[in-house]
Amino acid sequence: MSQILHYFKEVCSIPHPSFHEEKLADYVVSFAKEHSLWYSRDEHHNVLIKKPGQNRGIHCDPILLQGHLDMVAEKISGSDFDFHKDALKLIEKDGWISAKDTTLGSDDGFAIAYMLGLLNDNTIDHPPLECLFTTKEEVGLIGAIHFDMKDIESKRCIGLDSSGENRTIITSSGGVRGKFSLKRRKKVFYPASIIIKITNATGGHSGNDITKNRVNVLKLLAQFAKDLKVDIGLSSWVGGNSENAIPTWGTLILGLYEKSDELMHRAKDLALKIQDYSRHSDPAMKIDIEFGREVAGCPKEETHEIIESVLFFPQGVAKMSDEIEGLPLLSANIGFIRHDEYWTIGFSVRSPMDVLMEHHMVKIETLAKRMRMDVEFFSRYPGFPYQPESTLRNQFETFYQSFRNQNLNFEATHGGCELGIWKGKIPQLDIISMGPINEGIHTPQERMDLASFERVYENLVGFLAYLCHEAN
Ligand SMILES: [Zn+2]
Repeated sequence: MSQILHYFKEVCSIPHPSFHEEKLADYVVSFAKEHSLWYSRDEHHNVLIKKPGQNRGIHCDPILLQGHLDMVAEKISGSDFDFHKDALKLIEKDGWISAKDTTLGSDDGFAIAYMLGLLNDNTIDHPPLECLFTTKEEVGLIGAIHFDMKDIESKRCIGLDSSGENRTIITSSGGVRGKFSLKRRKKVFYPASIIIKITNATGGHSGNDITKNRVNVLKLLAQFAKDLKVDIGLSSWVGGNSENAIPTWGTLILGLYEKSDELMHRAKDLALKIQDYSRHSDPAMKIDIEFGREVAGCPKEETHEIIESVLFFPQGVAKMSDEIEGLPLLSANIGFIRHDEYWTIGFSVRSPMDVLMEHHMVKIETLAKRMRMDVEFFSRYPGFPYQPESTLRNQFETFYQSFRNQNLNFEATHGGCELGIWKGKIPQLDIISMGPINEGIHTPQERMDLASFERVYENLVGFLAYLCHEAN
C-alpha cells in the first residue's frame, strides 16, 4: 500500500462528520508533533502545519495547500452506521474505493492524505509548505470564514478540494443568503378558497443549475395568483427547502369571495399552458388545483405585498460572463417560503465579484422596502473571480502538458468553495486546484478512482519540484 493510501485509510477510520472534526484534528496535530513540525490549531479546530522548503526548494517562496477535514455524513436508509463512532467500512473493487452504505469522504479525505504524504516525505523537492486543514466546509465554509490568516505567508495556493484529475478551477462564486420577513397582520375571513399545489418540478442547485431555465415553483405560484385576476387573500403559502436549491414543490392557498366554474376553468387552462411551456425543463411537474372551504387570510394589501415581493424578485441569471462561455456572473434564487407568526421568504445571491453582489443586494433591499418587508442578509462569503493573468496557472499548464503529455482543462464554476475565501483574505493570492476522479460526492455512492488518486499525487509532487526548478 502506498503511503498516501495508508493515510487515506487512517482518515476513514476516524469519525469526522461536519461539526465533529475534533478527533481528526487531534490526529493531524499529533502527526505534526511526531514530525516536529510547526503547527497551530484554533477554536474551530482548523489546523495549520508548516514545513520548511526542502532540497532544491529551500529558498523558494512558500505555497499554501488546502483541504477540509469534515465530510458529508450520508448513509442508505435502514443503515445503522453511526458517523460519530464508527470507522467507515471500506470496499476496494475494480480499481475504485468506496464505503459500505455511506459516503466515503474522498471529498475531502484525499487532500488530507496528500498533505500528510508531503509533510512526511523528506526526499522530494518542495517549496516551504503551509498545509491548512479547515473544518465545517460542507455546512457553509464556516472554518475557512473564521480562520485568521496571520500566519500565512504564501501568495500562491493549491486548492485540494476539486475533482476530475486533468482539470483546475479558474473561478468560483461568492454567495450570500437572505430572507424577507413580514409579521402577519389581522386576519380576514374568506368564504371560499382555491388551493394550487405544484409538485415534482425539476429543481436543482442554485449555482450549478441556475442557467438551465428550470421552473422556480414559488415564482410560478406568485405569477399564478396574479394571473387569476380576482380578489384574493393569502391564507397559506409554503414550499421549497433551502436557499441554495431551486424549489421543486409549493402549495398556495388563496381566500376567495366567491368560487365559480368560470374561475376553475380559467385556472386549469392556465395550468395546462404553463405545463406546455415547461415541458422540456420540467417534464414531471404536476399542477393540482381545487376549491377549498372557508379560510382566514391576509388583508388585500398584505397579500399583494407578499406575492409581489416574489413576483418581482430578480430570480435566475442577471449577468453572464463575456470572457468564459456559459459562466454566470450574477444570479439569485428564491429557495423557500414558510409562515408562522411571520412570513419568511428565503433566498440566495451568487457572484464571484463583490460589486455585482452589492448591486443585487441593493435591488433586493429596495424591493423589500417597497413591499414593506424586512430584509436580512447573512452567511456571506467572497468569490474567486477569474484572473486573466495567473503565473501559477501558466506554470501548472506548462508542467502538466510536459509531465502527462495531455492538455489541462479549466473549470469555471458558479458554485462556492473555500478558494473564494482565501482570495478575499489575500487579494494577490494566485490559485490553482487539483483532485482525483471521484464520483457520487455527498451520496452513499461516493467512490474514488484509486489509480487517479495516485496519479494526482504524482502530479502534485512533480509540480512542487517543478516550481523549485523554475525558481533556481
Ligand atoms: Zn469538499
